[in-house]
Amino acid sequence: MTDEDCIFCKINAGDIPSEKLFEDDDCFAIRDIAPKAPTHLLVIPKEHFTYLTGMTAGFQPVIGSMYNAARQLAISEGVAEPGYRLIVNQRDDSGQEVPHLHMHLLGGRKLGPMG
Ligand code: 5GP
Ligand code: ZN
Repeated sequence: MTDEDCIFCKINAGDIPSEKLFEDDDCFAIRDIAPKAPTHLLVIPKEHFTYLTGMTAGFQPVIGSMYNAARQLAISEGVAEPGYRLIVNQRDDSGQEVPHLHMHLLGGRKLGPMG
């Protein structure tokens, strides 16, 4: 299922050109347009989910694919050893800007404490 007004669905469909650093049947990864760290990637499910709480148990493989993508990208981006952070923002209190579930992969500098 896609949302025709959704920026990440448009990127997935190729309507907005963006280099895909990783792709499998369930998800893909791109560089964040406004990076907060030297490595700042977004791992995005191909299907339009807005919230984790809206996903049902049948979608657990998608979550597994997203973590597998993050694992492979951490290695290929060279941040697996120094370290990195995975973030999923959800709803207002987190400041979620794009209402299509996605995981941030941040690394390449000391990220400091979460705050
Ligand atoms: P959120 O705050 O929803 O967790 O994060 C959304 C992220 O998507 C932000 O870090 C923002 O910079 C990024 N972003 C928004 N629009 C685009 C876009 O068109 N292309 C890319 N590559 N990243 C985007
Ligand atoms: Zn979408």
